[in-house]
Amino acid sequence: MKLHEYQAKQVFADAGVPTPDSQLASDVDGVVTAAEEIGYPVAVKAQVQVGGRGKAGGIKLVDDADEAREAAESILGMDLKGYHVDRVLVEEAVDFTNELYVGITMDRGEGKPVAMVSTRGGVNIEEVAEEDPEAIAREHIDPAFGMHPYQARKAVYDAGVDQSVARDVSSVLTTLYQLWDDKDGADAEINPLMVTSDNEVIAADAVMNIDEDALFRQPELAEMEEEAAGGDELEQKADEYGFDYVRLEGNTGIIGNGAGLVMTTLDLVDHYGGEPANFLDVGGGAKAARIANALDMVFSDDNVDSVVFNIFGGITRGDEVARGINEALEQFDEIPKPVVVRLAGTNWEEGMEILNEDLVTVEQTLEDAVQRAVEYAGEVSE
Ligand code: GDP
Ligand code: MN
Repeated sequence: MKLHEYQAKQVFADAGVPTPDSQLASDVDGVVTAAEEIGYPVAVKAQVQVGGRGKAGGIKLVDDADEAREAAESILGMDLKGYHVDRVLVEEAVDFTNELYVGITMDRGEGKPVAMVSTRGGVNIEEVAEEDPEAIAREHIDPAFGMHPYQARKAVYDAGVDQSVARDVSSVLTTLYQLWDDKDGADAEINPLMVTSDNEVIAADAVMNIDEDALFRQPELAEMEEEAAGGDELEQKADEYGFDYVRLEGNTGIIGNGAGLVMTTLDLVDHYGGEPANFLDVGGGAKAARIANALDMVFSDDNVDSVVFNIFGGITRGDEVARGINEALEQFDEIPKPVVVRLAGTNWEEGMEILNEDLVTVEQTLEDAVQRAVEYAGEVSE
């Protein structure tokens, strides 16, 4: 589970990490009011859980109310890497001289958490790790003993952080480790940790991913998750419809019944060179209305370029599913994205006959269906 930037910043600030003054806003007037209260210049930042928001137009620095209004109008409602932006963080701009990176993650190879520090913050750290691994200082931590203060100092020293801020950076790193440990973190990261002209350090961004399996013992974070999910229209829809749904980053939409079958379909999409857009399990005994809701879900995802239906009839009957697909698609003057269907199991033959081939592509095997959907997705995105 991933916290939003504004939530992670709150968690970090509560633990004593310096963060800029900020307020959350969800409409243009709210942004301007927040900016006036904070004082210009401010940064207006899209609250979506993807990196590289700046480059994608999701972060703007503004100097006055007109600019704040303009930034709010362009960012609120925008589609950022497939995510709809409905909230922004309005934040005191930082007058910085340097951007550092500090992070804690699990090193699976070593089976230990690792603290990382780099003076090449402010850019995608994965790229730095690939181009110039030496630019990131690493210190493994024995979770039984926690991070010893000298380990934090050593990582900061090895990274080549300037003397004048070394002590403060070490202290942020120590706090970050404690949070990671206390909150069952999977990753905790500050990129950039900005250094100001008067040698103060301040967390200009915040990432905190929590181990899902530990959420039961982190009730305040679980609440944040609910709040965060409430911001995503698709997750909300999935809740309303009662689907098991996970949004992914690809463009081939997937609908199936049974978690195992949906997972298999995901793997096959990947196998044929496509990228799954989602996991969507419609469950057993899927009636026509449920099928229509499932289609509505994937059609509402702007990332989706094609859809593959993979239904194995047991309780769910092929003819029922086929009728649902027809009914759902007949409502459109033009089908929004090509749909490929594969039916198997109970009443599959009847289902195949019922399916309106003017509206969908029917395939006999799962492999053919997936391959076709991946092809369609490829054609659309070219
Ligand atoms: P991300 O690209 O989605 O991780 O968003 P960040 O919060 O890390 O911001 C991206 C970049 O915006 C930073 O690395 C800065 O270079 C730039 N930026 C410039 N001025 C500011 C400022 O005052 N505050 C913040 N947060 N970012 C700024
Ligand atoms: Mn960042």
